[in-house]
Amino acid sequence: MFAAMSADDILRKLPKVELHRHLDGSVRISTIWELAQEHGLDLGVRSFEELQRKAVLRTPRESLQSVLDCFATQQSALCSFEAISRITRENIEDAWHDGVRLLELRFAPAFIARGKTITNDEIIGAILDGMLKRMAAWPVEVGLIGILPRGYTAEENAAATRDIIRWRSGGAPGASRICGFDLADSEAGFDPRALAPLVEEARASGLGITIHAGENTDAAHVARALDIYRPSRIGHGIRSIEDPNLMRRLADQDVLLEVSPTSNWITNAVPALPALYRAGVPVCLNSDDPNLFGIDLVNEYEVCAREYGFGEAEFSVMNSAALRHSFLRPEVTARLAKEL
Ligand SMILES: [Zn+2]
Repeated sequence: MFAAMSADDILRKLPKVELHRHLDGSVRISTIWELAQEHGLDLGVRSFEELQRKAVLRTPRESLQSVLDCFATQQSALCSFEAISRITRENIEDAWHDGVRLLELRFAPAFIARGKTITNDEIIGAILDGMLKRMAAWPVEVGLIGILPRGYTAEENAAATRDIIRWRSGGAPGASRICGFDLADSEAGFDPRALAPLVEEARASGLGITIHAGENTDAAHVARALDIYRPSRIGHGIRSIEDPNLMRRLADQDVLLEVSPTSNWITNAVPALPALYRAGVPVCLNSDDPNLFGIDLVNEYEVCAREYGFGEAEFSVMNSAALRHSFLRPEVTARLAKEL
């Protein structure tokens, strides 16, 4: 018992860099419950226990509908400026307690706004508000990544891109922390060229590019994302293990895969991390949507220690790779490199 506790403690205290955590996919269940009472949200549940069963994905699910229900329940809580600021603060707080010293949080304005009257400006303003409050309280470095969901309309995604870029260059307090741009949601049946002009606009404005690819789709989707979007990071990308040439390309071009073992297991993706690591592909560890999966980031380190035999050396390599690939300004990462 004591040994188990101290191992957890060691992993918790390890200073970490986390680049892939969705603030709009990771709302504390207690917060969803409180916000539902406060705002009269109809979550279709009668008790907190029922909400836990509905909103937390602890094992792979057969039905796509039950997975979508989880996301919809999380999304409904992001319903006002104050709620979004609070959820941002809590995400940073949770990461801090996981030992995270540099966090890049991502969010999709169009996903948060759907079905509500809240605007992209209110959403981005609320996230900056929550971020600045936590950064004032703790020595944690935070960056923000804007996401376009692939399945949304061209108008929604064009508006989100324009608003993310305008906020980044607008000079509001904390706005320079908006540092990255991402595409997410299902790749299947989607024309990848459709969003390429928006990715180029984001790059031209100085945003770093990361793309969700190759989680449930094959290695060819990762190669295609590299060809079309030229990202320096890929969200998941674990199906790259199917193609040795692609793994060599990722290693040679120093493209980082942002891997999340529990998330990949829940979405029935392959456990690829050890093979990718051994092939020299830059990889880092992330929680993706911790409250949705009922985990924390320390849990992902424990999985790697227990299942893959990873220890301090591997964790150090992965955190260094994450820091090197952060989209935050070099003076921020240099300061942290000394500390780590
Ligand atoms: Zn993700």
